[in-house]
Amino acid sequence: MSDLYCVFGNPIAHSKSPAIHAAFASVSGQDLIYEARLAPIDGFKQAIAEFVAAGGKGANVTVPFKEEAFRLATRLSERAARAGAVNTLAFNGAEIFGDNTDGAGLVRDIAHNLGFSLAGKRILLLGAGGASRGVIAPLLANKPASLFIANRSADKAVMLAQAFSDIATVDAGNFAKTAGKSFDLVINATSASLSGESLPLPAGIFAPGSLAYDMMYGKGETPFLALAREQGAAQRADGLGMLVEQAAEAFFVWRGVRPVTAQVLAELRAKLAG
Ligand code: NDP
Repeated sequence: MSDLYCVFGNPIAHSKSPAIHAAFASVSGQDLIYEARLAPIDGFKQAIAEFVAAGGKGANVTVPFKEEAFRLATRLSERAARAGAVNTLAFNGAEIFGDNTDGAGLVRDIAHNLGFSLAGKRILLLGAGGASRGVIAPLLANKPASLFIANRSADKAVMLAQAFSDIATVDAGNFAKTAGKSFDLVINATSASLSGESLPLPAGIFAPGSLAYDMMYGKGETPFLALAREQGAAQRADGLGMLVEQAAEAFFVWRGVRPVTAQVLAELRAKLAG
């Protein structure tokens, strides 16, 4: 019988994870089934228990359950403990292992797929929610020159910077506080693009040769990437590569096999554009 995996979320119908993992299984010759499962907002724990009872080996977790998954795990990876959120669960007897592959996925997309080295770079991270928290330690592990976290609510950015101050000095503030500074990499980890809103970013933040990265992805150009183009960012990328790479990292956690991602990403990109 094929091993069973799934992604839990609410809503979940739009999820691309089943298609991504089916493609990974096919390219790496792994025998598994991967489904999308809708968990009731107040029924995540029960949904996990039922899935494990049915023989489920592992699960991805998306909005709004990443923090609940963190609390449910009986053992955490170091990166999940740092992130305070779990997007990957592995079930082994009574153990629920919780991991977080979002940061590794982002770094892999930027450094490998886009060929942009993070070492020595000035990074601006926009947003102070779950996605932002999950990528800070993996970004710092690549030894950037500096990291500035800017958020609409400045206090949340400051708290986040303090939470990682044992790794490196991180600056923080509201968007206006970035005025007069410029950055080699600007990452949008806010959900503003979801509602079609653009961010009030001061002019001049994109240094020559800079990369603008929006974690959000979709059919057209996001408001953040449009702004980055107008402000002269040399390279611009959306978060589809991060999505595929975080999935590949989860696949590795479960199967011990790292699938080749380039073709899967290209096919997904073509489907999105079509
Ligand atoms: P959260 O709800 O945890 O955080 C949202 C953040 O966006 C907060 O910092 C919030 O600021 C800010 N924000 C929301 N609306 C606006 C606005 N109109 N103007 C300025 N700031 C705003 O969300 P997540 O961190 O979980 O997700 C953030 C984004 O990252 C989403 O678009 C999500 O789709 C994407 N993502 C992509 C992934 C991928 O694989 N490509 C993986 C994970 C996430 P405030 O604190 O002031 O409210």
